[in-house]
Amino acid sequence: MSKNGQRLFRNFDPYITSPFGYRINPISKERSLHAGVDYGTNGKNIPCYGLADGEVSRTGFQKALGNYVYVNYPSLGHGALYQHLDSIKVKKGEKVTKDTVIGITGATGEVTGIHLHFAWFPSSDINKDWYSIKFEDYEKYVFPTILGIIGTPVSRDSKKDQIEVIISNLRVRSTPNGKILGYIKKGIYNILDSKFEAGYTWYKIGNDMWIAYTKEYGKLYLKVEEVKIEEPKEDSEKDKEDAPQEEIKKDEPEAPKEEEEKKEVEVETPKEDIEEDPDLSEKEENIEENPENSNGFIEFFKKIFEFFKKIVNYLTNM
Ligand SMILES: [Zn+2]
Repeated sequence: MSKNGQRLFRNFDPYITSPFGYRINPISKERSLHAGVDYGTNGKNIPCYGLADGEVSRTGFQKALGNYVYVNYPSLGHGALYQHLDSIKVKKGEKVTKDTVIGITGATGEVTGIHLHFAWFPSSDINKDWYSIKFEDYEKYVFPTILGIIGTPVSRDSKKDQIEVIISNLRVRSTPNGKILGYIKKGIYNILDSKFEAGYTWYKIGNDMWIAYTKEYGKLYLKVEEVKIEEPKEDSEKDKEDAPQEEIKKDEPEAPKEEEEKKEVEVETPKEDIEEDPDLSEKEENIEENPENSNGFIEFFKKIFEFFKKIVNYLTNM
């Protein structure tokens, strides 16, 4: 039961039969904005009252509205529309108070039964086309007044996921895309849960309190991990993980190099053996005496030459 409803009637606790918001219109069967709140009266014609000191700015009959009264309440900062009245009890320009009977609830206009359609309007719109008030204006002035501001902003906390609501009044729903419960003011709220539904990301900011997120509605502050300590650990872990891989990569190309070096060593081994052989000088002497050695052949032929020379000398001396 709403605060406004209680003040609208006396000795009767009204109930809301249709809240403000988009709905399938019971008459046209089309989805449209229900720009007010419908209060049920148990099918009875009962008086509805003024809400504060004000002035009746307009009365009349309109096909959809039925008998209507528009009262401006400067003290409240709004005007109010009473619709579907069975009878009107005030006249244009009349001063009213919270004890003035504005009219008797009824079922005039496009209705399915007796009820009071009540809506707030911004006072500034009183001399304009007041019934075609923009939805944005309703969101800003009217609906928060009817359903109330709920939710309490908190302070910035980098250890929590938070959203800063940057518009004056943002709808709060019972579930993602569900029933409108009221509005929240600008400010920072903790994010308790999130869901994607009906084209929006929804954030839970309290018990059964969900708000839609767009960049026009809010700024997100995601929880900041304590990176100062963890980041170096992550880096060192990464180094450790990367290190073996780098070592393997190094081993792969290096392996053939080592084999090549080994081959080179194997080739060089005989040379090294010769150079390092302590019996080298003896072997070299032996090699010089070897006839297969070029020097050996020269010596061999010198000896043969000397031999033949001796024979020639011998024969010549004969
Ligand atoms: Zn209505």
